[in-house]
Amino acid sequence: MYPTVALDLDGVLLDFEAAWKTCAAWTLRRPVERITDDYALEDRFGLSRREVAKVWDAFHQGNWWERVHPYPEAWDLIEHLSGLGACVWAVTNVDARHLHARALSLEGMIPEARIITLGAKAMPEDRVAILRDLRATAFLDDRLDNVHAALPYVPICSWIHRDYRGFGEPENGVLVIDDLRDFGEVLQGFLYPVSVVA
Ligand SMILES: [Mg+2]
Repeated sequence: MYPTVALDLDGVLLDFEAAWKTCAAWTLRRPVERITDDYALEDRFGLSRREVAKVWDAFHQGNWWERVHPYPEAWDLIEHLSGLGACVWAVTNVDARHLHARALSLEGMIPEARIITLGAKAMPEDRVAILRDLRATAFLDDRLDNVHAALPYVPICSWIHRDYRGFGEPENGVLVIDDLRDFGEVLQGFLYPVSVVA
């Protein structure tokens, strides 16, 4: 049996922060830098609500979703997962109209037919319903609330810690990683446990 694996995109395979930051500097015509480790963009970059709204408008209208590039190590992970025979799906909180842009951003890592767009306002429960439909063996996200919601239904629930604060503590059973490539090791260990002889 080949495992089904579901991956979040922004903050997992794709470097959303870099793209959004570039878009912000371009839109606001000044350098924009991360000043805190908060997850909320206005706190992270020290912007007003109005500025954040302006950047989001530019992001959507200028099709910046096409320019959210993969983290370099994402290729290593995809290669490892495909070596394990995994069927890899992407699950992302953006509107369906950006589906093709997401596929372009992924540069062929995951085919468009295996990208699920939940909509910008999706709740963790919406994602859980998809994970259950897919019968996912493993799930990886950079938002701890999404990982916690999946915990009762998905055997391997992993959280990639991208140094944002304010998520609280991971519950028992969450596999915390800080390097994307470790997720491949986690899945491999689950599929092929090493027996220890005493
Ligand atoms: Mg994310």
